[in-house]
Amino acid sequence: MLADRRFRDKTGSMVTGRVLFDEPMSMHTSMGVGGKADVLIFPDTIGELKKLISFFLEEEISFLPVGNCTNLIVRDGGYRGVLISLEALQRLEIRDENLSRESTGKEEYVGSVCVYAQAGVSFSGIVEFSVRESLSGMEFCAGIPGSVGGGLKMNAGAWGRELKDVVKSVSILDPGAKIREIERKKLPFEYRNLDLPEGAIITGAEFYLARGIRNEIRGKVADIIAARREKHPLTYRSAGSVFKNPPDSPAGKMIEEAGLRGLRVGDAEISGKHGNFIVNKGNAKAGDIIALIAAVQKRILNVRGIFLETELKIIGEEL
Ligand SMILES: Cc1cc2nc3c(=O)[nH]c(=O)nc-3n(C[C@H](O)[C@H](O)[C@H](O)COP(=O)(O)OP(=O)(O)OC[C@H]3O[C@@H](n4cnc5c(N)ncnc54)[C@H](O)[C@@H]3O)c2cc1C
Repeated sequence: MLADRRFRDKTGSMVTGRVLFDEPMSMHTSMGVGGKADVLIFPDTIGELKKLISFFLEEEISFLPVGNCTNLIVRDGGYRGVLISLEALQRLEIRDENLSRESTGKEEYVGSVCVYAQAGVSFSGIVEFSVRESLSGMEFCAGIPGSVGGGLKMNAGAWGRELKDVVKSVSILDPGAKIREIERKKLPFEYRNLDLPEGAIITGAEFYLARGIRNEIRGKVADIIAARREKHPLTYRSAGSVFKNPPDSPAGKMIEEAGLRGLRVGDAEISGKHGNFIVNKGNAKAGDIIALIAAVQKRILNVRGIFLETELKIIGEEL
């Protein structure tokens, strides 16, 4: 149905951005794996996105938002429905300056500059902007390859900080195709997750940052990038940490202690550099990665009695 003329004409008239049919997701995921999505669509504006969602809901067409696909595995059989990339939503600006605790009346806001970013802005974009504008608070995001939308959905974090620590409010297109701006306090952030209703799409967010000294911020960012290069296997394709850290011990440490470094299924391999990374050594398939994940889960359950939950998201159909 999604490839038929009516769908093409209708969606084509709703967006000025690209509409790709039968698009191999291996071209888009950071892991370089994944079958074809029926449709991958790039709305240019929030208005276009709203029209699309209303249409998909009316026609009962499955859809899912994606960001930079850096925490995503699409199974080898592909995705039946429409994947919506918000890559074109790139607004990034300072909204309010010198909003003190007094002027907001909210104790928890300790920063003094409010920055708004649309969902498609990458972390590298926000971090560069922060350095340029001498704003401190986002340094921990340096080197995370995701987007604002995907990052908030994952409550991305590093070095003991998470996005929930710096976000003021999140704009969400809810399943009724209406946009609501929700304050952080009302958002159900969890470790590596923001619990949203099915079909909800993050369109942007406000962050509270603090004025700082540009060279100090730049230095901190450079240190973080250097530390990541040292710790992470960045010469191979990956999706970052595969498993969530259980409360008592980091997942990577458990995997290494269980002697699983180098374990391989096809071209998917547990990195020798970091136990919580699976790397694509060449031509891995999504199925290889998923089989390797299952093998690790089984082994850790046997030796430690702990089930390692995945951090990365797996979508789509088996071949
Ligand atoms: C080398 C490397 C290092 C990494 N390091 C870290 C790290 O230090 N810390 C960390 O937390 N993560 C890390 N990651 C993982 C990943 O970059 C983050 O989770 C990132 O936030 C995902 O963003 P994305 O835009 O790529 O989301 P995607 O992978 O595209 O999507 C992730 C999930 O979010 C949903 N989603 C995407 N956009 C939206 C939206 N607009 N509205 C609602 N839901 C949406 C998707 O449906 C999917 O379920 C790393 C990844 C790599 C490859």
